[in-house]
Amino acid sequence: MKIRNRKRVLVTGGAGFLGSHLCERLLKEGDDVICLDNFYTGTKDNIQHLMENPFFEVMRHDVTFPLYVEVDEIYNLACPASPIHYQFDPVQTTKTSVHGAINMLGLAKRTKARIFQASTSEVYGDPEQHPQTESYWGHVNPIGSRSCYDEGKRCAETLFFDYYRQHNLDIKVGRIFNTYGPNMHPNDGRVVSNFIMQALTDQPITIYGDGQQSRSFCYVDDLIEAFVRLMASPAEVTGPINLGNPNEFTILELAEQVIEMTHSRSKIEKRPLPDDDPKQRQPDISLAKKTLDWEPKTLLEEGLKKTIPYFENLVKAGIKQ
Ligand code: NAD
Ligand code: UDP
Ligand code: UDP
Repeated sequence: MKIRNRKRVLVTGGAGFLGSHLCERLLKEGDDVICLDNFYTGTKDNIQHLMENPFFEVMRHDVTFPLYVEVDEIYNLACPASPIHYQFDPVQTTKTSVHGAINMLGLAKRTKARIFQASTSEVYGDPEQHPQTESYWGHVNPIGSRSCYDEGKRCAETLFFDYYRQHNLDIKVGRIFNTYGPNMHPNDGRVVSNFIMQALTDQPITIYGDGQQSRSFCYVDDLIEAFVRLMASPAEVTGPINLGNPNEFTILELAEQVIEMTHSRSKIEKRPLPDDDPKQRQPDISLAKKTLDWEPKTLLEEGLKKTIPYFENLVKAGIKQ
């Protein structure tokens, strides 16, 4: 006998950094969650603590292949997110974004499910407008080493809006800016994980370029709150909508903060700046504030305080960078 009407929710990329936090949150909300992942960058360690919940189901599957399940909502997060991972097999990255979006949109069309797309601030490329609003079309290199990710995500947005216009799908597109927190991959090369791992193991902190480039870092719990609010918003709210923390820091400031908080003996070392590395990135979240009544609450120091212990445990377990 069915005791209550649980929403059946599919999370693609559910074993990844953001996906694992989202699955946990949805289970807390009382949903029936299918976590789909091909475990390319995600790991069962991230979701192990959820496995005993009877309303949590793990499915090993690649979104580039069709999927037939019955669901009410889909969060499409599957896609490697860090440059090291998405550049390792760039053709697969584009396929994941594009074929993955087509399959998940086809699934949403058949099941009449509401569908959320994890898009990215990378759709703005190396922006000429600062901070970036949703109306800005971006400044993206179509043939560079980041293009598989940036253009793949742009094409996915195009598909979402064409399915919306052509097939009347209920879509939600969130453009996510740099986010950090526990469950990040320790070797993903992203700045927060790199700096914390380097600091905890007293290795040099590698700053690319002069460290004056800036990013705005959002703590994961704040972002997940925005996902859930966007999914629950009225049908006319389709996005794209910027989701991130507007507090901007230079990479050098981040390095100094991490060294101080970990009491590390690490020294800063300058390295060459990677190709197409954006100089500045900061979301304009006025739209999210207005439509979702949402803004991040966690200060960088507070978020780092919650993130450092996760990496300390990995170091204790012998996981090296
Ligand atoms: P992540 O790499 O930790 O998670 C991605 C997950 O997708 C992994 O579990 C991976 O195994 C899975 N995956 C990859 N290809 C797949 C495929 N073909 N089929 C099935 N599963 C597949 O990255 P994340 O940081 O959790 O990012 C999640 C989503 O959010 C991604 O779509 C990413 O582009 C987007 N995003 C993240 C950030 C951020 O700062 N973390 C910023 C912007 C956008
Ligand atoms: N699809 C899927 N699950 C479904 C329905 C569709 O994976 O439940 C895939 C299917 O492989 C298809 C794609 O989604 O190629 C797009 O579906 P759509 O119905 O839009 O297009 P068509 O089937 O006409 O290609
Ligand atoms: N970065 C750095 N040292 C590192 C890793 C990254 O200086 O060990 C810089 C990188 O060049 C970029 C910024 O930090 O300017 C953010 O990099 P990340 O890969 O985390 O995210 P993205 O470039 O996608 O915003």
